[in-house]
Amino acid sequence: MISISILRVMKVIRFRFGLFLQALLVCFLLSCQSQGTKHTFMEDRRLKMVDRQLQSRGISNHRVLEAFRKVERHRFVLPRDTANAYEDYPLSIGYGQTISQPYIVAFMTEAIHPDKNMKVLEIGTGSGYQAAILAELSGEVYSVELIGELAKRAAQTLNELGYEQVHIITGDGYLGWPEHAPYDAILVTCAPSHIPLPLIDQMAENGRMIIPVGQDSYNQELVILRKTHGKLRQEESLPVRFVPMMTPEGKTY
Ligand code: SAH
Repeated sequence: MISISILRVMKVIRFRFGLFLQALLVCFLLSCQSQGTKHTFMEDRRLKMVDRQLQSRGISNHRVLEAFRKVERHRFVLPRDTANAYEDYPLSIGYGQTISQPYIVAFMTEAIHPDKNMKVLEIGTGSGYQAAILAELSGEVYSVELIGELAKRAAQTLNELGYEQVHIITGDGYLGWPEHAPYDAILVTCAPSHIPLPLIDQMAENGRMIIPVGQDSYNQELVILRKTHGKLRQEESLPVRFVPMMTPEGKTY
């Protein structure tokens, strides 16, 4: 129906205004259609990712799933990986670092029980994707990244996408970000050999921390901690592989 009426309009335009104007109109319609298709294509992949990689593996928090449907992961990966942005594996983001597999990002996000009023600290900004997901679900997000170039790139991407509530600094995340403590949740995306004391100190009462622990990348555990009455309790854990937490001198913690 629609294409028949478009054809009729074309005929009228050609009859009244000639071939040149008709050609212009065709170019305009084609460019609209190709933009629309590209958008739908990425959105389609994103929705499939949520369905096949997250929901089917047990991620069930509706707000978390909605955030993953919304945040355009392909904007956070390197241009050469745009087509792989919604695949079920981690991707390189340069400087020897990686953006985690979507399921791991979702698992960690769900584990902190995100809430609109929460103040969250992330250690290891990387691409800024996890920070964007956190920003969709909580209040203020503070994120510390050791590599200045990554911090700068992530800040630019988040700024372009309008995430004003994400604050990024370049620094050593082992020390946390004491100026804004205490945090309702701390999410660490690089692995130290032990849980950093400054991060424990910066947890709010009833706050949670999720952190991969273990120096050997083949033998790490994702640990979930909760602070109640000033004491820490381990809630759950999972075997994982994260990049190591580094000192500013280039050694591992
Ligand atoms: N959360 C990121 C993935 C981060 S990969 C994302 O969504 O893309 C882990 C990051 O931790 C890397 O960018 C690495 O540079 C950073 N990192 C390593 N040691 C660190 C430290 N001591 N302090 C802060 N960031 C650190």
